[in-house]
Amino acid sequence: MPKIDVVTVDGPAGAGKSVATRRLAERLGIEYLNTGAMYRAIALCALRENVDLTDADALTKIACERRLESRNGRVSLDDEDVSDAVRSPEVSQSVKYPAGAPSVRAILVEKQREIGLSRPIATEGRDQGTVVFPDALCKFYLTASPEERARRRFGEHERRGETVDFDELLRQIVERDRQDSEREIGPLKRPEDAVLIDSDGKTIDEVVAEMERIVREKRRAAGL
Ligand code: C5P
Repeated sequence: MPKIDVVTVDGPAGAGKSVATRRLAERLGIEYLNTGAMYRAIALCALRENVDLTDADALTKIACERRLESRNGRVSLDDEDVSDAVRSPEVSQSVKYPAGAPSVRAILVEKQREIGLSRPIATEGRDQGTVVFPDALCKFYLTASPEERARRRFGEHERRGETVDFDELLRQIVERDRQDSEREIGPLKRPEDAVLIDSDGKTIDEVVAEMERIVREKRRAAGL
């Protein structure tokens, strides 16, 4: 099967996918796609409009009828840039509903494919290398131990002056891993042909440099 000029980065919550994928895309001069933000935008819309989050048909209607656009890591809903709003704790707690609804996933997967087939992208999520772009030129699975991921999240909260309980953060991370891996459709799974990168003990610069070297090699070999 011919490969398409797409870089996929999958992995668990808190592994550093967003920062790494954004920087990688910048270095390669290609677009960055944050697919988690698309699921989050559906959850945000449902929360704002008091839509029952357990009603998959209502969530599907939002995915179908609202103008959901994603460009260079920014996500907009009916032309409003909601990239910051989708990071709220309420949205984080609710995103499992749209992410767990097969009909919502089908619509968002289709949108993601349209984007990836129209221009070179580096895209991050849970199912990018397995379901959305099985024929991507270069696939990564970026991970880190739950403790390391919890430490990073703890540091982010501390820098914002927020007090959080480390054990509670660790519990949430383990719980999200379970939800992401046990989902029937589009579960978090390492694509067989993905390069595994364990970011424990590595700086973000080291991770991005390693990824960039691998992508450049693959693109050169493919004549791109
Ligand atoms: O990566 P982020 O934390 O923003 O993702 C939000 C949620 O969306 C995750 O908990 C994950 O379950 C879901 N997601 C997904 N498929 C993707 C990207 C994210 O199910 N491709």
